[in-house]
Amino acid sequence: MSTPPAPSSPPSGAPAPAVDLDRYRTLRRRGTAIARSFRLAEADVEDVVQDALVRMLRVPTDGDGAPRRYESYFDSTVRHLCIDLLRKRGRETELPEPDEMPGQSRSERHEQRILVRQVLAAMPASARSILVKSHIEGRSLSEISGELGISSNACSAMLYRARRAFRDRYVRSHVLPTDDERCAAVRALMVDTALSTSSEHEVVVRNHRRSCEDCESQYAFLLTARSAAASALAPGALAALTAGGFLAFLGIGGVVATARRRVGSSRVRPRWRPSRSWPSPPRSP
Ligand SMILES: [Zn+2]
Repeated sequence: MSTPPAPSSPPSGAPAPAVDLDRYRTLRRRGTAIARSFRLAEADVEDVVQDALVRMLRVPTDGDGAPRRYESYFDSTVRHLCIDLLRKRGRETELPEPDEMPGQSRSERHEQRILVRQVLAAMPASARSILVKSHIEGRSLSEISGELGISSNACSAMLYRARRAFRDRYVRSHVLPTDDERCAAVRALMVDTALSTSSEHEVVVRNHRRSCEDCESQYAFLLTARSAAASALAPGALAALTAGGFLAFLGIGGVVATARRRVGSSRVRPRWRPSRSWPSPPRSP
């Protein structure tokens, strides 16, 4: 029986976790495909994938600590290591443009759909409701404010807060567990720094990231999540990501479901106006 080379051992002191060989092989394949898309030399591809696999060994995977986004985290880590390697070699010019960066894999897109639904389902009802009306049913601010009996200014502020809450919850769900208390404390502050350039925790988080490669990977993962959350909030995206019965499940899809029944077609699209601009942040009182 041939056994693939197992990743090198975890840091001294930590008990060696049992390696699930199936998962190990799957991750190795995924990582190799991603690293090759950066056009690295085969030896570098192997190094990068090995490094990412070793980092995965340090993510607790049992019980409550099991990361729900294990594979996405691995993909993000491989990409991050590839970018890092090209930078270290002074080959920045070979980095793909942001919009040409090896994109989401199929399983990441699937993951995003599931996550968007989970985040929406867990939001407070009023915040979810205004996101659904605006982003999924495609209603205008004046329609929504009329329905809610509030000023369009108040409606705009409400939508702004709901979008921010969505983004925050989406990114926060990408914080992986760690057995290290110091890392856990820093990760608790990391969402804030990933979402805001003026976060008061910026220095603490940056200093820790410099000396902790696991938290550096974690931070790269949060930045990936931030982009995914932003793309989910782009015009039309939330409607596409939640298409297929999700709203009925939540019991909040009355309008869309009724419209579909009325015309006897499942292909009714929410009324979407791509040219609309998003409301600006409310002025401070
Ligand atoms: Zn750390």
